Amino acid sequence: MNITIFGTGYVGLVTGACLADVGHNVLCMDVDQAKIAKLENGQIPIYEPGLENIVRHTVEAGRLCFTTDAEKAVRHSSLQFIAVGTPPDEDGSADLQYVTAVARSIGQYMDDYTVVVDKSTVPVGTADKVKAAVRGQLDSRGLELEFDVVSNPEFLKEGAAINDFMKPDRIIIGCDSDRAADMLREVYSPFNRSHDRMVYMDIRSAELTKYAANALLATKISFMNEIANLAERLGADIEAVRRGIGSDPRIGYHFIYPGCGYGGSCFPKDVQALARTAESIGYEAKLLNAVESVNYAQKHVLFDKISHYFRGDLKGKVVGLWGLAFKPNTDDMREASARTLMEDLWKAGATVQAFDPEAMEETQRIYGDEARLTLCGTKEQAIKGADVLAICTEWKEFRSPDFKAIAENIKHPVVFDGRNLYEPEILERHGLLYYAIGRGRNQ
Ligand code: NAD
Repeated sequence: MNITIFGTGYVGLVTGACLADVGHNVLCMDVDQAKIAKLENGQIPIYEPGLENIVRHTVEAGRLCFTTDAEKAVRHSSLQFIAVGTPPDEDGSADLQYVTAVARSIGQYMDDYTVVVDKSTVPVGTADKVKAAVRGQLDSRGLELEFDVVSNPEFLKEGAAINDFMKPDRIIIGCDSDRAADMLREVYSPFNRSHDRMVYMDIRSAELTKYAANALLATKISFMNEIANLAERLGADIEAVRRGIGSDPRIGYHFIYPGCGYGGSCFPKDVQALARTAESIGYEAKLLNAVESVNYAQKHVLFDKISHYFRGDLKGKVVGLWGLAFKPNTDDMREASARTLMEDLWKAGATVQAFDPEAMEETQRIYGDEARLTLCGTKEQAIKGADVLAICTEWKEFRSPDFKAIAENIKHPVVFDGRNLYEPEILERHGLLYYAIGRGRNQ
C-alpha cells in the first residue's frame, strides 16, 4: 500500500521504516529540512538500535522516500499518518499546533477519499479537531471529499522501538468507519500474523488508552520512588522490597524499579497533559498530580545526597557523571534526570565531567556553550580528577565497572547511584561509600 507519514522523529521514522520493511511504499514528510537532508544522505538523525539497517535497505529497495513537500506527501497516498510532536504547552496541556498544521495540509491537497491516522499522543477530542481542520480546508476549496480520522496511538519504547513496532503487544484502532478500519487492518496485517493484536474501539477511548497506559507506568515508578524514600528513612532496602513485592503475580517484576525519576518525551508530558485535561472538565486528578509531584522531587534526590555529603558546599567541586540520556539505548535527553542533576550542580557552584555512550552529540547540541560541563570521550575520562561519581542512566557498560579504578581516580571515595546498579557490599569492599536510592539508613 502507499502510505504517507508526517513527522520523521522517533515515532514517524520507525513507523515509516518498519512499514516499508514489510513491503509498503512509504513517503516520510518532515518540515525540518536538515533532518530530511540527512536522511536523504543516508544518515539517521537519532540513535535507535536496528533502525539504520532497515532505513538503508528500504531506501535502496525504493520503498522508503523522504520529502519536505507537503503537497507531494499528501498526493502520495490515501493513508496519511500523523506522527508529529505534541509537546507540553505552557500550562502542561498538549500543544496541538503541529497536529492541526498537518491536518490542514491534508485538507489542502487531498483529492480523493483519505484516511487520516493519528499516531501522535493527543488528548481526547483531538480527532474532532483534526476532522474540523481537514473539513475547513476542503470547504475553502469548495470540495466535498470523503475522509475518516482514526486514532492509532503508538506504544513503542525508545531503545527497543523496532522490536516493539514489529511485534506489538497490541495495535489500538479507534475508528467509526468500517472502510477505514479495513484499510488499517490491511496496513498492519504483516504484524498481526501470530495472533490477533488488533484492538478496535471508539475514537475517544483510543485517545484515552494511550494516556492511561503512560500514566499507569509513571504511577508505578512514582509509587516505587515513594516507597524507596520511605525505605531510606526507615532503614530498609528497597531492592529487597522490590523483589519481595514483584514475586506476587498481581504486581509482577516489570517496571517497579526505583530511581532518580522518570524522564523522556512521553511520561512527564503525558501525565501532565492528562491532568490538565481533567482540570479542563472540572475534575481534580489527585493521583496524577501526586505522580507528577513525586517525580519532580525525585529528580532532585541525587543532588540532595551529593549536597548533603559535602555539607551544602559544592563550590569548585567536580562531579563525574555517567549517563545523560533519559534511559539506556537512546540518545534522547528530553526531560532526562541527568539534566536536572547537572543544572542543580551548576547552580550550587560545581562543575560536571560527563560521559554517555550515545547522547554526547545531543548533549553538545543542548549544552554546547556551557563552560561548567566537560564532555568526556569515555567513562574513565569522566571520573579522572573528579571529586565523586554520580550515575543517572543504567547503560549496560556501567553495570560492572572497574571499582578499583573508580576508587583510585575520584578524590572522595563516593558513588551516588541514581539507578541502583550495584551491590553495596561490593563497593564497600573497594573502599567506596555507596549512596543509591532507598537502600537503608546510611543514605
Ligand atoms: P519527535 O520530536 O522526535 O518528532 C516529531 C517530528 O515532527 C519532528 O521531526 C518535527 O520536525 C516534525 N514535524 C513538526 N511539524 C510537522 C509538520 N507540520 N509536518 C511534518 N513534520 C512535522 O517526536 P516523537 O518522539 O517521534 O513523538 C511524536 C509523537 O508520538 C508525540 O505525540 C509523542 O508523544 C508520541 N509518542 C512518542 C514515543 C516516543 O517514544 N518518542 C512513543 C509513543 C508515542
